[in-house]
Amino acid sequence: MTHFELLLRGGLVVDGTAGADASRRADIGMAGGRLTLLPPGGPATARETLDVTGLVVAPGFIDVHTHSDGVTLIDGELGREIVLAPILQGVTTEISGNCGSSLFPALPERLAAMRAEARVYFGGDVGMYEGFAEFAAAHTAVPRANHLTSLVGHGTLRNGVMGPVDRAATPGELEAMCGLLDRALAAGAAGLSTGLIYTPGTYAGTDEVVALAAVAARHGKPYVTHLRDEMSRVEEALEEAVEIAARSGAPLHVSHHKTAGKYAWGRTERTLPRIAALRAGGMDVTCDVYPYTAGSTALGAMLPPWASEGGISALTARLADPGQRDLMRLAIAEGVPGWENTVGNGGWDRISIACAPRHSETEGLTIAELAVTRGQDPLDVAAALLVAEQGEVTIISHSMIEDDVRRVLAAPYSMIGSDGVPKPGGRPHPRWAGTFPRVLGHYVRELGLLSLETAVHKMTGMAAARFGLRGRGVIADGAHADLVVFDPATIADGATFTDPLVPPAGIHAVIVAGEIVVRDGVETGAKPGSVLTT
Ligand SMILES: [Zn+2]
Repeated sequence: MTHFELLLRGGLVVDGTAGADASRRADIGMAGGRLTLLPPGGPATARETLDVTGLVVAPGFIDVHTHSDGVTLIDGELGREIVLAPILQGVTTEISGNCGSSLFPALPERLAAMRAEARVYFGGDVGMYEGFAEFAAAHTAVPRANHLTSLVGHGTLRNGVMGPVDRAATPGELEAMCGLLDRALAAGAAGLSTGLIYTPGTYAGTDEVVALAAVAARHGKPYVTHLRDEMSRVEEALEEAVEIAARSGAPLHVSHHKTAGKYAWGRTERTLPRIAALRAGGMDVTCDVYPYTAGSTALGAMLPPWASEGGISALTARLADPGQRDLMRLAIAEGVPGWENTVGNGGWDRISIACAPRHSETEGLTIAELAVTRGQDPLDVAAALLVAEQGEVTIISHSMIEDDVRRVLAAPYSMIGSDGVPKPGGRPHPRWAGTFPRVLGHYVRELGLLSLETAVHKMTGMAAARFGLRGRGVIADGAHADLVVFDPATIADGATFTDPLVPPAGIHAVIVAGEIVVRDGVETGAKPGSVLTT
């Protein structure tokens, strides 16, 4: 009889695959960080046995889209619930470095300046690293409950070679970027990400990204993109991504696919069939999505790209100048070619403050509300806040409609990513604490939009396959012992926009590398997580 370290008896295994037999009764034994499937009630002993009768046992959730690179390194200074939110919702692997922003790579001579900017952004010292190996070493030195890996952010790469300048790369600079990217991917980073609405990524033209995506293609790793526009020009932005994938040969992954702003509402009726047609034609295209009609980003991204050229000090200098503010107001009113312009597509009444550490009295209020209270123009309110916070204000943008969110969730090639931005203080978007239980509770159980098996596949096996996480995302003999045990009848998100870090209901146990990190919804303190390479 086999003896295990941990044994789960009586559960319904939903194995993370898309197969017709994805759910079945089975027991699961774990030893040495790996798992073994057993017939129900079959002979086995274990140091600890959990009775999971009536519960679902699924592979641990893989959050394919986070901005959590720095969070564990400043653990002591952060709210405990921010650090715990992923494991309390069953996330056993986080993929960070999305939207063009990672904590590596950079040329040595750029590191000091970039470290200073990262310190402002995260509110603590998270470092900035020459390459993926140095990043992984720093994160491995801090015990963590779940696993982490990272994409190579194009914005960081560009900043790390050229600085935050608004111009095309020279051939020499592009070669340096390709070299740093190649080294990071060879060391195990999961792919290349862009954030083409954000500075400095937005300063890059299509050809620059093609050259970099070709490096990812040589490694067989995906090109992951926050499109240049997710609003009125979302279809053109999708075509740019398709062109980049076609010319470079890289698999394409569209981040947090949405069609936001009043001019683009309903446009998923065009973008999704386009992606389906590309797939039918043989192109490898996937996307991720979070289950909310609001997004969250930096307040600075509401301004035209030229406002941020030169970095934070240059931005705050422009914001203090009334003439420059008038030019920004004009840009928002009239638009700028190639720039998404969130406020022009919606309005300041859809932008609320999520996090402004030195002005917490503004958190939860819209810029429009603040403008009325202060008797000021909304842009002047935003400018004053950005100056006072040294550029670091997070906002929530209520920019989408429910039909679009549901269509993307239901697309057969979409996987789940929280897009969580864990930072100290404020009222962050509830997706950091609620995404996975919200899909399983609201969209699976309450609305019947997806089957349980399909939803689990989007959170596990599909994600692992896309990002090269071998032996994860599935329950099979010999797979890594990352699991989540939940009650399909009660699982639900607790996090809301007013109380964004309330833990979910219905998560009974979370297991990482064969160790229980969450038991009955409470953390155990175990830290078996590691930095994964792909
Ligand atoms: Zn993004």
